[in-house]
Amino acid sequence: MSQPRTAIVTGAARGIGAAVAKRLARDGFSVAVVDLDAASCADTVKAIESDGGTALAVGADVSDTEQVEAAVAEVAEKLGPPTVLVNNAGILRDNLVFKMTDDDWDAVINVHLRGSFLMTRAVQRHQTEQKYGRIVNLSSTSALGNRGQANYATAKAGLQGFTKTLAIELGKFNVTANAIAPGFIETEMTAATAARVGVPYEDFKAGAASMIPVGRVGQPEDIAATASFLVSEEAGFVSGQVIYVAGGPKD
Ligand code: NAP
Repeated sequence: MSQPRTAIVTGAARGIGAAVAKRLARDGFSVAVVDLDAASCADTVKAIESDGGTALAVGADVSDTEQVEAAVAEVAEKLGPPTVLVNNAGILRDNLVFKMTDDDWDAVINVHLRGSFLMTRAVQRHQTEQKYGRIVNLSSTSALGNRGQANYATAKAGLQGFTKTLAIELGKFNVTANAIAPGFIETEMTAATAARVGVPYEDFKAGAASMIPVGRVGQPEDIAATASFLVSEEAGFVSGQVIYVAGGPKD
């Protein structure tokens, strides 16, 4: 018998999250498109629906316990028990450590780490009840260290430990947990970084591509394709892994 097919993707109003949501809908999932503001999810939901899929816009700040609990309850009620969770919501507050403020640190740690924890805690109740589940956390090549990103690198490295621990704790319920660690992906996040350092985005992308073995920057669909595999039933023996999707090796 096939498993319940309701997926939640956080930060899915745009960028990587939107591409993952659209891909999972095409794979046959009913998809809860979660972002800070439900109205900002309209484009992703519309794209899924006009492609014949099912989607629900849900507004929630993933770092807020009450909003997360309410969002997951709404998804379970309207789309059925969520068995797939993609923790993708993220922000940047880059600065060299001597200039990094308390707020820069807390904001990044809260969205990536606390947000993934809160979403996972709420969703795993449904997964363990269904004796089935797939969790994918968005890490980053920055987990290996990146100038100006002490907060972000720490959060993304933390997500790798979180992922491995989920794999150990939830495995007996037939729930897998894996992380995707993207390299440079063309989204508003990397466009904002280019703007911050004062380099035109086309030049910024070309510079990045010149350092990437496959000779191009990544697209959100590159990450969506990897997520599609990791949440599939046939990926059930892949758990606790960090998959670098960066156009070349990272270590
Ligand atoms: P993006 O274009 O900035 O999209 C991130 C989305 O997350 C936005 O829609 C944002 O909403 C939402 N979000 C932020 N804080 C949230 C919160 N507290 N609750 C709910 N939603 C929230 O970023 P992206 O490039 O697609 O990145 C997606 C994920 O991949 C992130 O975790 C990022 O760290 C990771 N990643 C990206 C790259 C890359 O090169 N782009 C590389 C490695 C890893 P608002 O617009 O309202 O802020």
